Amino acid sequence: MKTVAIIGSTGSIGLQALDVLADLADEYKIVALAANKNTELIAAQVEKLQPQLVTLQDKEARTSLKSLLRTKKTKVIDCEEPVEAIVSEANADITLVCVVGAAGLLPSLSAAKLGKRLALANKESLVMGGDLLIKTCKEHATELIPVDSEHSAIFQCLLGQDTKELKKIILTASGGPFLNVSKAKMEQASVAEALNHPNWKMGGKITIDSATMMNKGLEVIEAHHLFGLNYDRIEAIIHPQSVVHSLVEYNDGSLIAQLGLADMRVPIQFAFSYPKRAKRSSSLSLIGKRLDFFEPDLTKFACLRLAYEAGRAGRDRPIVLNAANEAAVESFLAQKIAFGSIYKLIAEALSSFPESKSDTLTAKLEIDKSVRAYISRLINSGRWTE
Ligand code: MG
Repeated sequence: MKTVAIIGSTGSIGLQALDVLADLADEYKIVALAANKNTELIAAQVEKLQPQLVTLQDKEARTSLKSLLRTKKTKVIDCEEPVEAIVSEANADITLVCVVGAAGLLPSLSAAKLGKRLALANKESLVMGGDLLIKTCKEHATELIPVDSEHSAIFQCLLGQDTKELKKIILTASGGPFLNVSKAKMEQASVAEALNHPNWKMGGKITIDSATMMNKGLEVIEAHHLFGLNYDRIEAIIHPQSVVHSLVEYNDGSLIAQLGLADMRVPIQFAFSYPKRAKRSSSLSLIGKRLDFFEPDLTKFACLRLAYEAGRAGRDRPIVLNAANEAAVESFLAQKIAFGSIYKLIAEALSSFPESKSDTLTAKLEIDKSVRAYISRLINSGRWTE
């Protein structure tokens, strides 16, 4: 029986992970649950699953959780950085980090120190602190298994192969809801239009990132850290059907791909079961399927271009990119800015913030914070609504 901690249990990936684990209940035991502030949902999860530990990042929500819980079997972790603390106290065989955004970095680093398995569904922790996270995993012999569907696909395509013979990796992108919409029309899109992803069912932040294609940009940086390749060997191509989840090319010209349903439960489950594969009842038939591939338009999807530039420049540029994106997306979802302003705000932050190189976690979090404050000052100044 393996123990599992789920950090981000009330989000989209967290809920799908609970779904996967419900089917595999004789092999995995959930020992810890954490989330941001969804008190009622996590309380219901605790009553049902009776884990040893639970916490919420938000202090007020944590206090109401304490008064809400009826079970005496679960301890509420209450301290300064509760989500980071629950990871080390749970010391689970597998820690799934599936919180959204920069908030994932602390729990990911905490899990990297356990010397066990980190199932990582938070790409922002690699974008912000990839060098630090990979180094910490190596020092503690922690297995890092990607949950992001593209990276899970590449991880699978590399199994049993000699990575010295790898030529490049190719990440596929659906192109999101605006693939066949003009740039001008896309820039004026409503929140509902941007949230209407054609293939994948995901949380709000990542769905907007898919619509701007920043999601693919963040995934390029994620792949750079996970697979240790320079940016010239990481390609992003559009594949609207989302059947091929990504592929690799070897030196002899062979392409090896992973195909399957557009269902996040598959890569989540694989991150738990690896190196084994657990059964799933549904599968993909290729009969009658058409598969198209083409190059992304970097003028229209300029966020993808910015991400490549920030990744290549390295140092703290990806932190600025990521923080500006998170702050801009949050404001778009709150209907404070236009869709087209997401790109403009990120570009503005990248040109305003000086080149820097931080080595410590504190310094990285400091940059993240000041970029967010900068974006919020820009937004409050007006002029971003169209
Ligand atoms: Mg992905």
